Amino acid sequence: MANMNSEKIQNLHSENLLVHFRRIERLKQEATRHFSLDLNQRQMCDLELLLNRAFYPLAGYMEREDYESVLNHMRLSDGTVWPIPVTLDVSMDTAQKLEPGQPLALRDEEGFMLAVLTVKEVWQQDRQRHALAVFGTDDPRRHPGVYRLFHETEAWFVSGTLEGLHLPMHYDFTELRITPAETHRVFTQRGWRNVAGFQTERHLHCAHREMVLRGAREAGANLFIHPVAGRAGPNDLDHFTLVRCYQEFIKNFPKNMVQLGLLPLERRLAGPRQALWEAVIRRNYGCTHYMVSEDHGDPFAGNSQERFYPLGAAQELVKSLEDEIDIRMIPLKKMVYVEDKAQYFPLDQVDPGMQVKEISSAELRRRLEFDLEIPEWFSFPGVVLELKKAYPPRHEQGFTVFITGLSGAGKSTLAKVLYVRFMEMRERPVTLLDGDIVRKNLSSELDFSRKHRNLNVQRIGFVASEITKNRGIALCAPIAPFARSRQTAREMVAPHGGFIEVYMSTPLEICEQRDRKGIYAKARAGIIKGVTGIYDPYEPPEQPELKIDTTSLTPTEAAQEVFLFLEEQGYIR
Ligand code: ADP
Repeated sequence: MANMNSEKIQNLHSENLLVHFRRIERLKQEATRHFSLDLNQRQMCDLELLLNRAFYPLAGYMEREDYESVLNHMRLSDGTVWPIPVTLDVSMDTAQKLEPGQPLALRDEEGFMLAVLTVKEVWQQDRQRHALAVFGTDDPRRHPGVYRLFHETEAWFVSGTLEGLHLPMHYDFTELRITPAETHRVFTQRGWRNVAGFQTERHLHCAHREMVLRGAREAGANLFIHPVAGRAGPNDLDHFTLVRCYQEFIKNFPKNMVQLGLLPLERRLAGPRQALWEAVIRRNYGCTHYMVSEDHGDPFAGNSQERFYPLGAAQELVKSLEDEIDIRMIPLKKMVYVEDKAQYFPLDQVDPGMQVKEISSAELRRRLEFDLEIPEWFSFPGVVLELKKAYPPRHEQGFTVFITGLSGAGKSTLAKVLYVRFMEMRERPVTLLDGDIVRKNLSSELDFSRKHRNLNVQRIGFVASEITKNRGIALCAPIAPFARSRQTAREMVAPHGGFIEVYMSTPLEICEQRDRKGIYAKARAGIIKGVTGIYDPYEPPEQPELKIDTTSLTPTEAAQEVFLFLEEQGYIR
């Protein structure tokens, strides 16, 4: 017992919570007998920051006494300032299997063992009280942090100390995944007495450079640009682009003044408490200053219409506790470009007569989409180049033409004409996902029930999104009678390129007259059931990009409508 205590005390102050490799062998052997838990991405973030000591002095998941004290007083039970609960949430099922003193192996999503938690307590959380204390509301509709707590967090909490085997694995940007011990060493080696931490999760341009430089200079500090890179999947193009843009961004600073690192933080968006927590974390990374904006940690930060916390509250809270948490607060000021002076100024120093210029992120996106100029006062050439690679203009993006309508409305015919024409153009690879082709291959086991119809459309949406992502053309022609599943397909495709919904509005009488496959006749005769338009519902699209009635349009004319639309929208030239 005495042995264990001294080990724990050592752990409390060591560089990380990883154990000696000899102990790893033992823990691994013992683990076969332990109960184990696979952590999700959110939980992995907390675990990583516990193991690498960014959450110092925590040496494991908070005990109940600390948890209560954090909720009520923003402090651990010994009085140390700590604003955000760090707990491990488990399902009731798991909770019932756990007992105090029991080892619990924590694994990543692939089942790789990262740590052993020695369980201390298990209790059911009171979500409402938790939400009110941490977020200031218990209404999930008003606050995304509360929504996550209510809908994405398990109901039971486990506390206990941790023995780490490995830090969670990252294969991307490994050189930027620096731990507090490493940053501390780097800062000391470079002779940086003062270091100002800056956190972001957005794209950074010239205005941000001016903003952080100004803040750092006022404090006589060097800069630690420390963006949040929490839950990014390997498919998350934005994550890779963002980090590459940060790498370009820091090239525009004076030499030996800036360090870049990635922080695997699961943000709670708890406004002032969030800002205070981030400041404590930066102190643990070796920073002497932390930059706080007036809407810092707000779930609607940057959105002037709708913010949850009062402006400036985050800055005030961090400032008021500076001495205790041992890190100074630098208030960040929004900078704007003043054209007559060809210079950036803090917004609060701009006279009414000055002409200020800004480019919103929506406007930037539009300029990228249409290949328009992005001025040098706004961003750096290296950053713009990265953005252009990731967000090519529309004529280089992929797109999906999603044709929906009743059987016989002319979907396949239109899709075939388009297919041939795009093949002729030879600009992008083309895939035809016609209703019947898909039903034969991708969805051969599915029937025509509502559930299976939706599943069929979902699969088409998935394939179309992959094709679009890789800058090809996907031509889909399912009946897709339900609005919800068409919306799902749109949501899958739209982040990667164009989604053009074409509603073939040819009336049922015409489709029935054509009745190429004889299904309407069979339906009317009662031979088959579940024919869309006769027995099964069709929900017409409310806002399709195009509506085409083939009653009096030839297939070529119908295709021409699509071509005109694609040209007008910039997808083809
Ligand atoms: P869907 O794929 O919507 O079931 P099809 O493309 O197979 O419909 O067309 C059904 C029938 O309508 C076919 O006989 C086809 O030749 C005819 N058709 C398709 N488009 C047109 C059009 N624009 N004008 C006249 N007939 C058409």
